[in-house]
Amino acid sequence: MANQPAQTIWHNGRLKPWAEATVHVMAHGLHYGSAVFEGIRVYETPDGPMGFRLTDHVQRLMDSARIYRMPETFSFEQIMAACHEVVVANGFSSAYLRPILYRGWGSLGVVPGESVPVEAAVAAIEWGAYLGKEGLEKGVDVCISSWNRPAPNTTPAAAKASGNYLSSQLISGEARRNGYAEGIGLTVNGELSEGAGENLFVVRDGVLYTPPQSCSILAGITRHSILTMAQDLDIPVREQNLSREALYLADELFFTGTAAEVTPIASVDGIAVRCGGRGDMTRALQERFFGLFSGATEDRHRWLEPIRSKEPVQRQEKAHGIAAIAV
Ligand code: PMP
Repeated sequence: MANQPAQTIWHNGRLKPWAEATVHVMAHGLHYGSAVFEGIRVYETPDGPMGFRLTDHVQRLMDSARIYRMPETFSFEQIMAACHEVVVANGFSSAYLRPILYRGWGSLGVVPGESVPVEAAVAAIEWGAYLGKEGLEKGVDVCISSWNRPAPNTTPAAAKASGNYLSSQLISGEARRNGYAEGIGLTVNGELSEGAGENLFVVRDGVLYTPPQSCSILAGITRHSILTMAQDLDIPVREQNLSREALYLADELFFTGTAAEVTPIASVDGIAVRCGGRGDMTRALQERFFGLFSGATEDRHRWLEPIRSKEPVQRQEKAHGIAAIAV
């Protein structure tokens, strides 16, 4: 399904009409995948549009750039302000934000020299449930991919870099061609890693399990939110290596991600999960998560950040440091 373009986009320091935000065909990022990006949701709430953990996402963007030694041509504060600006300029009450830092045109060398500029854009678009609205209630059918996730000493999974999404395209594309909603990648050792664009959770005997960051996962911000909410609900939580067969024996399974939100998994490789669709723990965590935006859940960790039209955006003091997410 094609996304609709928005009217206005922020590109290299100013707002422009959507059609004018273009990149040169010789851009380094296009040839060599040297770009880092984020996906952030702005939710409509009774108190107006709220960015969900906007600060943490923009911090992860800056961290991804740091891993790839990209010079900071645009500051954290500038990207934060641009995120607010594009939502307001397009008159959105909810949106999906896509900030990207990419290496532009300068030279064709694989190692980008000083002649290669780091450029930036922030787009806001309207985007519904990534794996379908029905999937949020009934769960989705998924498979294990024949493609593994990159090994930890190849490309760093902690950086949300454009090049990483070649792996996601292979995993998700194969799954969809075979009639599944999504594919799950295993590590090079055959342990569970994550979905093509989602983190993975397993429920067994009342315990919530998820693979650790050493299993080539992106340190998802929704993953961290769900782990935190599970602890708030006194659910025992374990980050540990998990085998493929843990999926076939699970009571409940679900994905988390900015796009996928909290999506139950109904079957893996044609084996139905024991609960037969959306389980009780998944439902409780979903309710708590979506309740943040309806006002039913108290925002006790200060994850909702009001979208502002004018005031300069200050770096918020967070209840959790980003280290809890990225290390
Ligand atoms: N893993 C991958 C590969 C992803 O692309 C995403 C989506 N950003 C996630 C996990 C979930 O991360 P988050 O909750 O921060 O969106």
